[in-house]
Amino acid sequence: MTKTWRNIRGAFDILPWASVADGAAVPGSAAWRYVEDAIRQTMARFRFEEIRTPILEEEGLIARGVGEGTDIVAKEMFVVDRGRDRYVLRPEVTAPVMRAWLQHRLEQRGGVQRLYYIGPCFRAERPQKGRYRQFHQFGCEIVGSDDPRADAEAIALMLTVYDAFGVTGSRLRINTLGLPEERRRYAAALRDWLEPHRNALSETGRRRLDKNPLRLLDTKDEREQALLRDAPLLVDFTGEPTRSRYESVKQCLDEAGIDFEEDAMLVRGLDYYMHTAFELDSPDLGAQSALAGGGRYDLLGAALGSDRPAPGTGFAAGMERLFLALDAQGLSVPETASLDVFLVALGRDAQQWAFREAQRLRREGASASFDLKGRSMKAQMREAHRQGALFALIAGESELAAGVVQLKNMDSGEQTQLPADAAPTHILQCLGDARANDAPVSIPSP
Ligand code: AMP
Repeated sequence: MTKTWRNIRGAFDILPWASVADGAAVPGSAAWRYVEDAIRQTMARFRFEEIRTPILEEEGLIARGVGEGTDIVAKEMFVVDRGRDRYVLRPEVTAPVMRAWLQHRLEQRGGVQRLYYIGPCFRAERPQKGRYRQFHQFGCEIVGSDDPRADAEAIALMLTVYDAFGVTGSRLRINTLGLPEERRRYAAALRDWLEPHRNALSETGRRRLDKNPLRLLDTKDEREQALLRDAPLLVDFTGEPTRSRYESVKQCLDEAGIDFEEDAMLVRGLDYYMHTAFELDSPDLGAQSALAGGGRYDLLGAALGSDRPAPGTGFAAGMERLFLALDAQGLSVPETASLDVFLVALGRDAQQWAFREAQRLRREGASASFDLKGRSMKAQMREAHRQGALFALIAGESELAAGVVQLKNMDSGEQTQLPADAAPTHILQCLGDARANDAPVSIPSP
């Protein structure tokens, strides 16, 4: 039997129309484009500039950047072997952006670089709702500033994206992860405190206790959560500079009217964070409740071998989770782009005419489509409706022989007979007038 090829598990096709993959809704490509455009508009309003980095990076960059001890590097990387080189499909975009910043000496452009990205990322996780192996992230990186206002700026931008879509009810949690030295002392204290409770921990919990006790703080295991309620807190291991920096971030958020909750248990799954860390959750997402997260990563540059200071801060957000939140809140996204003209043709001569006039309309800047299967008039009109056409331009064999066609306004149903050779110019004029006045398209008498 021949094999039926399918996309790999945890990845999905984005079709021109909405579909379902592994039980989850996948919006159509027009919806993706709409959402991406809206994100770009918000980014532009904040004057962030787009950066696009390759999907493939050297394994070492990600291992060093994201951190050897993280789940991502330890077990979720898609590795590509090419002779002696080992590449990975990027699991996130912050380390690649930092690489680009260092490589191109972006600090020499002057000022702070406010950058954003949208694109696919890859993690070999167990696929489930809201968790995929190929997923899409958008996010921002503010590189070149250690000002606490930059953290608040990243948070404000992140929230504005969701506000622009009308997403409500999400919860912003923030924490300080302090300096690496403060975190090391805290990790040691937390380990000492947890050691007598080792047997009460899950297997994952015990592994984390040995490798990276901080990761235990955001455990989903209720018994572990109860146990940790009395555990020492990181903030008690931080010095004055860390605390006053944290206060500054909170003050900026207050001044921007941004609601947040402090969560001493919030840690991030990536090693490069220090000081500010934050996460945005939505009650509509179920188990995978994080819409977005981020924080400050002043030492990422140094971890990548830079001797130049490269302080940075930013957020990363999942596109699929944004779509889930939009869907759960009944916020619809346009699934089809509108079409200016569908040319309906019956008979060979009319088909030739439709082909020729479609090219002409497109050359003049209108969008036009026509049937390629010689279907019935009814089927062609149905197709015009399906494609959301503003106009149908209808030509039958005998009409065309008489030099006339029918122009139908698909919205109002209004229909007019026009001289065949004048019809495209006439449509272009109607479309132009409507665009100039931002009015619905109507058909004036010829
Ligand atoms: P992270 O930096 O790991 O917190 O990821 C940032 C955001 O990307 C998360 O808040 C999610 O919205 C999204 N995300 C991360 N991993 C996945 C995944 N495997 N599938 C879908 N979305 C993801």
